[in-house]
Amino acid sequence: TFRALLVEKSAEGAISQSIQELDDSRLPDGDVTVRVDYSTLNYKDGLCLTGQGGLVRTYPHVPGIDFSGTVESSADSRYKPGDRVVLTGWRVGEAWWGGYATRARVKAEWLVPLPDAMTARQAMAVGTAGLTAMLAVIALEKAGLTPDKGEVLVTGAAGGVGSVAVAILARLGYRVAAVTGRPETADYLRSLGASDIIPRADIADPSPKPLESERWAGAVDSVGGEMLGRVLKQMKYDGAVASIGLAASAAVPSFTVIPFLLRGVSLLGIDSVMRPYSERVAAWNRITTDLPLGMLEAMVTEHGLSELPELGRAILAGQVKGRVVIDPSR
Ligand code: NAP
Repeated sequence: TFRALLVEKSAEGAISQSIQELDDSRLPDGDVTVRVDYSTLNYKDGLCLTGQGGLVRTYPHVPGIDFSGTVESSADSRYKPGDRVVLTGWRVGEAWWGGYATRARVKAEWLVPLPDAMTARQAMAVGTAGLTAMLAVIALEKAGLTPDKGEVLVTGAAGGVGSVAVAILARLGYRVAAVTGRPETADYLRSLGASDIIPRADIADPSPKPLESERWAGAVDSVGGEMLGRVLKQMKYDGAVASIGLAASAAVPSFTVIPFLLRGVSLLGIDSVMRPYSERVAAWNRITTDLPLGMLEAMVTEHGLSELPELGRAILAGQVKGRVVIDPSR
């Protein structure tokens, strides 16, 4: 048997969560069975835990879009018992039972070997949020960003994606400006390497101007909405914005193409869910060198399965700071 956080939907449509001891026969039909050492909490987990966003179609469901752990058995030659692995994406935890359990069964091609330099706990302190921040930095580099080009803006900075993006960029030698709606996180953001703290209110409302003064050489945006519209108008000539998320909104009502046409600005779409294996391995390896793993610990709070329903509501309300690590055995 294994222990899991099961999300159920009643005939009336009410969502409930409970911790249950389940028989192994309930695991999905994958080829690698993993003892889950840690999982984590991402924005999407908040949606799956509370039945929002239409991500989960079939109930009962075990959420948890990420996990790290140890292979217990494998029908695929790429993995053997004892191998340390990490899983993010592929709609695990949404369309497939995920990491909020002590055991998971998935397809071998979805797994990535855990880099030797990283513990299972550190891998989940990174999780989808951190991997996506790394993918965004790699995309900005490909678009030509270098530290000498100027300051880089990170929105939603005290959140999961934002915290890791700030730490990686600062480590790589960038001057980092961090946008936050929580002024009390300023010291935390400075400890991760942010040089400037920008109050959310300064950049949250639409500007009537087609362009504003040039400020940012690059940007990592997990907020979307009017803030993304403002960021585009403040980009320096040839600057690039990595669009990761929609914590505020998916729509950008004030959007115009003027920054593209007059300043050569690029908008780079970042998806972490379907990234090919080779890119995942490269990104995880870069995290071991570009994200100070000691600094990672400063971002982390650890919880058990029973605290997840409350944490899910908190992350959707933008109230979670940094990264959450989940120990499914408690
Ligand atoms: P998170 O920890 O909740 O971080 C989001 C942060 O955005 C919050 O901490 C808050 O930061 C800010 N924020 C929240 N509501 C806001 C609002 N209404 N207006 C302005 N800022 C707001 O979530 P996360 O796990 O980092 O994910 C962030 C976003 O990225 C989500 O939309 C998620 O779905 C997306 N994402 C996408 C991918 C991908 O593959 N593309 C991967 C991971 C995540 P402050 O308090 O500092 O302002």
